Amino acid sequence: MGENMLALYGGPKVKTTPFGTGNRFGQDEAKELLEALEQNTLFYHFGEKVKKFLNDFNNLYGIKYSVATSSGTAALHVAIGAAGVSVGDEVITSPITDQGTVIGILYQNAIPVFADLDPHSYTMTAEAIEEKITPRTKAIIIVHLAGNPCEMDPIMELAKKYNLKVIEDCAQSYLTKYKGRLTGTIGDYGCFSTNDFKHISTGDGGIVTVNSGDQEDYFTTHAFADKNYRREDSEVLKDLEYLAPNYRMTELQGAVGIAQLKKLNWICSRRNELGEKLNKGLTSTKGINPMKITKGGWCSYWFYMLTLETQQLSCSRDEFSEALNAEGVPNQPGYIPKVLYAQPLFQKKQAYLNSQFPFDQGNYDYSIGSCPNAEHILQTAIRLNLNEFYTNQDIDDMITAINKVATYYSL
Ligand SMILES: *Cc1c(COP(=O)(O)O)cnc(C)c1O
Repeated sequence: MGENMLALYGGPKVKTTPFGTGNRFGQDEAKELLEALEQNTLFYHFGEKVKKFLNDFNNLYGIKYSVATSSGTAALHVAIGAAGVSVGDEVITSPITDQGTVIGILYQNAIPVFADLDPHSYTMTAEAIEEKITPRTKAIIIVHLAGNPCEMDPIMELAKKYNLKVIEDCAQSYLTKYKGRLTGTIGDYGCFSTNDFKHISTGDGGIVTVNSGDQEDYFTTHAFADKNYRREDSEVLKDLEYLAPNYRMTELQGAVGIAQLKKLNWICSRRNELGEKLNKGLTSTKGINPMKITKGGWCSYWFYMLTLETQQLSCSRDEFSEALNAEGVPNQPGYIPKVLYAQPLFQKKQAYLNSQFPFDQGNYDYSIGSCPNAEHILQTAIRLNLNEFYTNQDIDDMITAINKVATYYSL
């Protein structure tokens, strides 16, 4: 049997050595955690850890104000609330994202509206967003999927033209740049997640940037994550002026965050290096569409996702995925199981048990087929794990394996 025979059919495996691994947490995190405990308080407002975490983050991002939260989903809800999104408003976002992107919209009793994506960069486009704008549109949540930035210039122009707030979902795009500017600093608010699967982890947690640089905007955003408590003066104001949840970050998360943030530059640079190498290695493979990085963009590759040109291959996407797994290269067919609007919540228009509200406030179309590019991406995508501990050899082996499988099935 030749060495070109797929491992799936008994041929030799491409990847025979283990992938590089490493420890994400160490003595730095332990030291910060101990210091947090020794403060004798784990409350962010009395301790110093969350404050320092945010201060370090602000310095890294070159911004004046940010607010810590208990999760990325919470960060998004806070930004949506601070942006003034409320009952019956429409918010345009991506159909391919974590469900955390839309949860805050619905908690504000606003309605998520989905705009289609670029087929190869998986980013939102100004063109597709503009088609979805109505007099009720209040905001856009931009998702920089997998660390690839959306083309922000035309999107910001659109937002200005229609007077819309722009919230950037940067849960997957730490230190990603668009034309030299960091994602999360371009729109009105930027939302980050520090859940355990992101570039950096505090177990769970999040950050909202307040990019207006306006102090009152910052106070409002801050209060929205803290039950509407206003802590800016020595006397805390507790008037409940409007609904605001408790999304506070604890000192334990802040402490780990301080140590994690010091590694962020290295993590993102290394992922960028590995991702670019992988991308370059796939440019001339028949049957494969490599991930298209946005022009003027710098990608921090939270994962790597290619799509298959299935008319050029004799296998299905799932067979390709299985064959690649057999070669020793772990991968998943697709990303999320289906576009967000295909989820039962949207198909049944049921955000709350026993209620159709707020979907009954208008005529909303979540029919299958409404974002054809996004649906096609999820049907043809292969997602590859990638992290900062991988070696150059790991990437070379991944390229060899993908090329081997694609060549075998090539029509
Ligand atoms: C992870 C993620 C979120 C949600 O963050 P959590 O911290 O898990 O709540 C939101 N949007 C995107 C794009 C994400 O990847």
